[in-house]
Amino acid sequence: MSKIIAVANQKGGVGKTTTAVNLSACLAAAGHRVLLVDLDPQGNATQGIGLDKNALSATIYDVLIGGRPLHEAIVPTGMELFDAVPTNRELAGAEIELINEEEREMRLRRALGEARDGYDYVFIDCPPSLSLLTVNGLVAAEQVLITLQCEYYALEGLSELLQTVIRVRDRLNPGLSVLGVALTMFQNTNLSRQVLDDVRNHLGNKVFNTVIPRNVTLSEAPSFGKPVIYYDMRSAGAQAYLALAQEVVGRG
Ligand code: ATP
Ligand code: MG
Repeated sequence: MSKIIAVANQKGGVGKTTTAVNLSACLAAAGHRVLLVDLDPQGNATQGIGLDKNALSATIYDVLIGGRPLHEAIVPTGMELFDAVPTNRELAGAEIELINEEEREMRLRRALGEARDGYDYVFIDCPPSLSLLTVNGLVAAEQVLITLQCEYYALEGLSELLQTVIRVRDRLNPGLSVLGVALTMFQNTNLSRQVLDDVRNHLGNKVFNTVIPRNVTLSEAPSFGKPVIYYDMRSAGAQAYLALAQEVVGRG
């Protein structure tokens, strides 16, 4: 059975895409079949795995809006066991185009349908909003992985996100649960340590033991279109995501 994990937080720049891309790559490298769905019109995940946003023959937009079967939008990433459904700016229009459609929250779930059977893990990289796109991600998923940046306002907005998860669970997707909270961009400062303590006090064992450090290699790798394990395997960022991937499997 495949496991579908939405990586979400309506806050921008908290490490969602970095986490979705690198967990996907680490799990594929460990022998799991992985599909990464880029559900953010920014297309950062698409670029981060080396796909050209301007040269896509089909995107998640064509699936959600055009009714195209998902398998037609799946592309190989060039990395073994690792496929993706890319996106580009066109997806930004989807919010408005879906607004009057019936069962608009169910589009991605329906589209994943049987296609999911070909994979052990499906990661959905959500945009920084609680919009219809994110709701589609949450309705399609079984679990949510929340990323929090180790900075002063880390917990801000978290209750809103958790309320959205509960609302989606109650109305549309009874199987939905929180897989875990990953802390990202940890620096060895008083502030980062304070945030870590606060978050652990609030969320207890929902927080992954692995904390992702702030690591320049993680921010460089996307410009080469590579997950960090294929850019610099020995970097602290690569080692952290390998450890986080093991925890994700362990929570399976
Ligand atoms: P958005 O909300 O815009 O989609 P996001 O939550 O997906 O953002 P990312 O794109 O993963 O966040 O990260 C934001 C920026 O921080 C990017 O430039 C990324 O390369 C960088 N970054 C992410 N994680 C780390 C890290 N652990 N160390 C250093 N830089 C990082
Ligand atoms: Mg992102």
